[in-house]
Amino acid sequence: MEHIFFHPLIVDPARAFDGDRMSKGYDDWFVTVYEFRRILQSLYERGYVLVDIRTLFDVREENGRTVVALKIPLVPAGKKPLVLSVDDLNYYDYMLQNGNASRLVLDDTGRVAALYRDRSGNEVISREIEIVPIVDHFVEMHPDFSVGGAKGVIALTGYEGVLGYRTQADSPQRERERSAAEPVVRRLKETGWVFASHGYGHLDARKVSLDRLKSDTERWKREVEPIVGPTAIYIYPYGSRPETGGDKFRMLTEFGFRMLCSVGPAPYLKTTDGAVMMDRRHIDGIAFRDQRERLKPLFDVEQVIDPARPR
Ligand SMILES: [Zn+2]
Repeated sequence: MEHIFFHPLIVDPARAFDGDRMSKGYDDWFVTVYEFRRILQSLYERGYVLVDIRTLFDVREENGRTVVALKIPLVPAGKKPLVLSVDDLNYYDYMLQNGNASRLVLDDTGRVAALYRDRSGNEVISREIEIVPIVDHFVEMHPDFSVGGAKGVIALTGYEGVLGYRTQADSPQRERERSAAEPVVRRLKETGWVFASHGYGHLDARKVSLDRLKSDTERWKREVEPIVGPTAIYIYPYGSRPETGGDKFRMLTEFGFRMLCSVGPAPYLKTTDGAVMMDRRHIDGIAFRDQRERLKPLFDVEQVIDPARPR
């Protein structure tokens, strides 16, 4: 089953690709609004439908053991299920300087929109510049693109807050920011979005020690979970997956993470040792350059690539 992921969209390519030290990273790991819109249209035309990742598996207790089983999502005849996720929708400080939006907000109709602050400090609130509102609008126009109103997974770290709100423990405005984030989180959940842990500090789970990964996980549970609610979905930063069945893997399952997502160039979904493992394809500049053939079932790179991207 296809699972694709993106980072927050590039709203202003001139700022992302301005030749500073972040430009290469933006060219490698991000897509623009222009590209995302074309990708979405292609996915729709090719018969993909968004499904809720939580409908892919079942967790139950059997004789004192936690058993995780895969489920086949029901999709209309001729349609292909697709899971969409967005990583690092935290709007880190560096993103604010490089052409991403700055936070998710509710617009004057109560719908989720993105706030963008341009180089001169002018602020715009728009539903046309970020994955969440673009998908929301697309599904409003094409309800058959979503099974049961499902949209996607939002994977959050915690070290610079969530969704552009600086809710982390060391933030002086923590309480105010948290109150401001809450209605946005509520609306996201009501409109088909699901949250996942992306670790607290974006650590490499394979490289760090068990203790470090455990305290990172505890910190996420302490600081982020109270805002977004409990989740069984864990999305490994860097797609770096520790050994299946090993100490780190077991620690994460004991914390309730039963769907563990990594990164791979092709669909992968398997259940083992009390968890579901799912690979996701990265959709970004690297994939556009190196995986044109593999991406063909989803979209044609030539048709979606933004002319504003460096050549
Ligand atoms: Zn990440």
